[in-house]
Amino acid sequence: MNTLTLPTFDDVAAAAVRINGYAHKTPVITSRTVNEEFGAEVFFKCENLQRMGAFKFRGAFNALSKFDTQQRKAGVVAFSSGNHAQAIALSAKLLGIPATIIMPHDAPEMKVTATKGYGGNVVIYDRYTEDREQIGRDLAQKHGMTLIPPFDHPDVIAGQGTAAKELIEEVGALDAFFVPLGGGGLLAGSALSTRSLSAGCKLYGVEPEAGNDGQQSFRSGSIIHIETPKTIADGAQTQHLGNYTFPIIRRDVDDVLTVTDAQLVECMGFAASRMKLLIEPTGCLGFAAARQMKSHLHGKRVGVLVSGGNVDIARFCSLLAA
Ligand SMILES: *Cc1c(COP(=O)(O)O)cnc(C)c1O
Repeated sequence: MNTLTLPTFDDVAAAAVRINGYAHKTPVITSRTVNEEFGAEVFFKCENLQRMGAFKFRGAFNALSKFDTQQRKAGVVAFSSGNHAQAIALSAKLLGIPATIIMPHDAPEMKVTATKGYGGNVVIYDRYTEDREQIGRDLAQKHGMTLIPPFDHPDVIAGQGTAAKELIEEVGALDAFFVPLGGGGLLAGSALSTRSLSAGCKLYGVEPEAGNDGQQSFRSGSIIHIETPKTIADGAQTQHLGNYTFPIIRRDVDDVLTVTDAQLVECMGFAASRMKLLIEPTGCLGFAAARQMKSHLHGKRVGVLVSGGNVDIARFCSLLAA
């Protein structure tokens, strides 16, 4: 395990070149209301406005761009019910690579439709009786396809790090930076950029309170596995950090914080009504944690990574109405 070669900021910089012209350079938004509430300068990096609606396009496109001729011909396989599936399907389409996405039988219709719409070949499996990783490995072996995991891959981590790189290059050094945490691809990539471009910045990963495996792992020093947590933050329902993401997070992150589902809903409502931003529950993790800590942020320059905006509008409304 200690033979793993971890990605570095050079890999993030190389990823930025590969995705240039394909990924959006997403806007950084500020709000007078938020700045007044915090007594600080807060910069929101809006990956909810990224292609396919989340930062995951960056990592997927970077990983697929590195395929050799043989890999391009045989295609990519991924398993996901969420944003990674759409990111792989869209990246594969743009690069002319066949994509097979393994999704659970009860995946939201909207996500299945979106993935098919990007040209992905969707294989449905039964969440309760079949093992998606086995299906993925079988497909990879039989057809020579390359499996790209949602977070624990050096090229995925490097791609995800480009969002933080853009943010810091645009607004300058930060004092504190809040980043959503699931399996840790986004946080690890953000850490590489932050340590190179804004070394003194306090960097925080943020998880749903119900699924604080990352916090336990960070604080104990080894990867803790948990049951799939019950939370509205479906992009952070991961059970453990990865073999690549954990050592980077442990080395470069200052702490891992948690927020409740109720705090996420409050931020979703605030962002929609005051900032005109549609953010999915997971996308609000960073904002919610920054808000909890605002009394410690007076006079500081604060970055908030808004990771995604893919939420069914009816679900958005019912979450806010509850
Ligand atoms: C995947 C995802 C996350 C978590 O990213 P990791 O790299 O797994 O930590 C956060 N927010 C959104 C919107 C996501 O899709």
